[in-house]
Amino acid sequence: MPNSDLLLRSRSAVWHPCTQMKRHETLPLVPIQRGNGIWLYDFDGKRYLDAVSSWWVNLFGHCNPRINSAITDQLGKLEHVMLAGFTHEPVVQLSERLATLAPAGLGHCFYASDGASATEIALKMSVHFWRNTGKPDKTRFVSLQNSYHGETLGALSVTDVALFKDAYASLIHASATIVSPDSRNADAGENAEAFALRCAAQLETYLQQHHEHLAAFIVEPLVQGAAGMAMYHPAYLTRARELCDQYQVHLIADEIAVGMGRTGTLFACEQANISPDFLLLSKGITGGYLPLSVVMTTDNIYQAFYADNVARGFLHSHSYTGNPLACRAALATLDIFAADDVLNSNRSKAAYLNRIAAPLREHPGIQNFRNTGMIWAFEVASPHADFAQRCFSLALEHELLLRPMGNTVYFMPPYIVSEQEIDLLVERTLKIIDSLC
Ligand SMILES: *Cc1c(COP(=O)(O)O)cnc(C)c1O
Repeated sequence: MPNSDLLLRSRSAVWHPCTQMKRHETLPLVPIQRGNGIWLYDFDGKRYLDAVSSWWVNLFGHCNPRINSAITDQLGKLEHVMLAGFTHEPVVQLSERLATLAPAGLGHCFYASDGASATEIALKMSVHFWRNTGKPDKTRFVSLQNSYHGETLGALSVTDVALFKDAYASLIHASATIVSPDSRNADAGENAEAFALRCAAQLETYLQQHHEHLAAFIVEPLVQGAAGMAMYHPAYLTRARELCDQYQVHLIADEIAVGMGRTGTLFACEQANISPDFLLLSKGITGGYLPLSVVMTTDNIYQAFYADNVARGFLHSHSYTGNPLACRAALATLDIFAADDVLNSNRSKAAYLNRIAAPLREHPGIQNFRNTGMIWAFEVASPHADFAQRCFSLALEHELLLRPMGNTVYFMPPYIVSEQEIDLLVERTLKIIDSLC
């Protein structure tokens, strides 16, 4: 199918996500024919370095031979079976392995197919737990300002992005938000840790006043992705854990974007030395191959549902819960982490990028150059109101897939990125920024 034909047909037959479709009258869709490693290729052989890991999901490159072969092997055995009343090897293995890798105490895995569903499950489980344990008034949630936990109605209720939410306000059971520990908002001379603790004091005040009606506090550990890669000090999470224990409020760690090594440790919560009551994973869990999400929780929560009475159980389900192909992709992804000592090798890649990126950090048009693990972000002072759009288009001309959020440009590359590819990424980003400032 020639390119132009594909673009026209995609515009009329496919309603694309997170898109004002009219924009594609002037901004062409990018037709991708194949992927290999960090590169995506269009039908004319033009390539794009996937610097955003295809919406933060890809960890070990496109068409990874090891993940491909695990899925192919599974395809010859069992593509799917319902997980109610049935079970299979990949889902058991994955649950056991995640339990040994995750922060202590999270021994029970509940599966779904996408991140928003994982949020829904955690919210429902939390409220249902309190109901089963004689506290039916604990039905409310609190999240951080600018938080993002997905876009189904329940997840939107704890998401604080007006653009995604306002049109549906009448459908949403509003939740409270409290100040974000986003280090960019620290006072002059105040370090990130002191600022984080100052913000945690506001969480304390909120919990003190509202704990009787609060089921859970939901948080994106260390990096608030959709807020524009807002990074903060782990001391906030350590304190939040203490406060949630003190006031009997669940702590939900949404590691959908930051889990699976993104922040430098396998799970971001490790850096705060905490175990949440619910840990949410999706995005990178299958290496970016197949839709899968998991809610990991504690034995205490599990036991509150374990009874003769059916209605005390957690009756939530999705058709593809625990899909065997997705679980095999996830197992292959965990194998790669172990075999290639990925977290260590990421540490040297991150150090290399930070060295090479000195000209970006010192660029007069760039502010707040920041890094956590394998995530980098900075704000660009550009005179263009449509900076994000221009930057995206110009990046494509330079063989880069960058997708700024407002004036925030970020890198979130697959972990297989090489030093050469880092050089190319930084060099060309500099050129793009120069011409947009
Ligand atoms: C992407 C994301 C979600 C939602 O996941 P989907 O699979 O897109 O529904 C939830 N929380 C965070 C932190 C995310 O980054």
